[in-house]
Amino acid sequence: RFERAAEREDVSVGPRRRQLRPSPASASTMKGLANSATFINEPDTDPCLPQNRTWAMNVVDQKHFKPVSEESLVESVEALDSILKQARAGMKHWSQGKTAAERRAILTNVADVLARRRGDLINAMVFDGSKTFAEADAEVSEAIDFANYYGMKGEELPSGFEPFGVVAVLAPWNFPVAISCGGILSSIAAGNAVVYKPSHATPRCGEIVAECIWEAGVPRDAFHLVRCSERDVGKQLVTQSDAVILTGASETARLFRSWKHDIRLYAETSGKNSLVISPAADIDLAVADLVQSAFSNTGQKCSASSLAICIGDVYHSERFRRQLTDAVNSIKVGDASSISTVMGPLIMPPEGKLSRALTTTEPGEEWLAEPKCLDAHKDCRLWTPGVRVGVQPGSWFHQTEVFGPVLGIAQAKDLDNALEIQNGTDYGLTGGFHSLDLREIDHWIDNVEVGNAYVNRGTTGAIVRRQCFGGWKASVVGPGAKAGGPNYVMQFGLKTDKVKRD
Ligand code: GLU
Repeated sequence: RFERAAEREDVSVGPRRRQLRPSPASASTMKGLANSATFINEPDTDPCLPQNRTWAMNVVDQKHFKPVSEESLVESVEALDSILKQARAGMKHWSQGKTAAERRAILTNVADVLARRRGDLINAMVFDGSKTFAEADAEVSEAIDFANYYGMKGEELPSGFEPFGVVAVLAPWNFPVAISCGGILSSIAAGNAVVYKPSHATPRCGEIVAECIWEAGVPRDAFHLVRCSERDVGKQLVTQSDAVILTGASETARLFRSWKHDIRLYAETSGKNSLVISPAADIDLAVADLVQSAFSNTGQKCSASSLAICIGDVYHSERFRRQLTDAVNSIKVGDASSISTVMGPLIMPPEGKLSRALTTTEPGEEWLAEPKCLDAHKDCRLWTPGVRVGVQPGSWFHQTEVFGPVLGIAQAKDLDNALEIQNGTDYGLTGGFHSLDLREIDHWIDNVEVGNAYVNRGTTGAIVRRQCFGGWKASVVGPGAKAGGPNYVMQFGLKTDKVKRD
């Protein structure tokens, strides 16, 4: 049954016992750091030696960054109009002036350039996005995987496939490199031109991503970097492009549709993900995966689990609660630029839903670990992780994506009740289940309503091609082919009856 589950594209089965693995921020990161201009001041130093880590981490500082170039600032709708015109012309040369094999070769080059600039990309993510080194390192790998995989898929497109034209890629701050590359490179692989707007919170990441893509050989007229306001110019970009890729809130997707009802929108939106823990689970593994799923990237992942649904005795079990509390309290919270930090600051001071989740409990709930702000004298972005028990089905916390370091614990009578709670939200992005009982696993797989279902594994960190990523229900807008999956590239164009030109 494990094999059967593993064959399904939307189900991922984790190891029953975790193997000891090298830390993700090991040799490859350090090699990357050595390639970063900001890190080199002693050319003979071997960056792979452990003692050099301290030295490397201390240089993540604003003074080591060149300012973001003014060139990409677009302040008027007229200026954007002219970029869209250039992109339209650029798309013709890119899609008709090059063969599919040539385009693929350029995407393979993108992968190489991203790998070469791993250090700069990590540096920018740590500084702009408050990512930890380990998370940033894994993110560069994901971007490289997207470049290689989408390059291959672009070459496999059927004859008669016609790209849409100009695709606007609106990238988020939480995965400023991987999700940017995913959107840009899939559209480019399908023969489109791209106008890329990075998040205003991570402009350096956006700039380095663009530099890599140009350096690899994607022509300037086919790929444009645009930093603009989200109001007038942003609206113009969304409404005038032939398709729009968005990773963001459901409200943003609705706003775009209100601007243009027939918009071709490909959006990965919100989620409220949970992980079910059965009494038949390996509790050590379940706690480790839960903590990783709830608090990696400070809970700021669409794929994060912000609710654990404990079946029966697990909920009150002293062992579960003690292990969870110990694990949570041992998370090292601190500045992202310290390599020992496991949970960095929030990207911005909490407000709205997240502020409510960090500071109040709902009826029936109490804190198992109360979140504390560690930098109240500054901007209150640094929080200890929070765990609230007693989350009630249908309550505010059960229904709301908070996008931060708060985990709720709910109790379920049995597996069906757990599924009812897990499926009982508008969203359906990721879901997890921990159990070693194969019948339970089968039952869960058949009934869970999520795009990415993970068994005995955490709910974050989908791997390109192996765990293609995308949601159900309110977590997705558009045709819904999954990122990193076999059908993603081909959604950015149409198969026409015209005879292929080359
Ligand atoms: N693809 C990421 C993962 O599997 C999540 C992306 C997101 O948060 O938007 O963890």
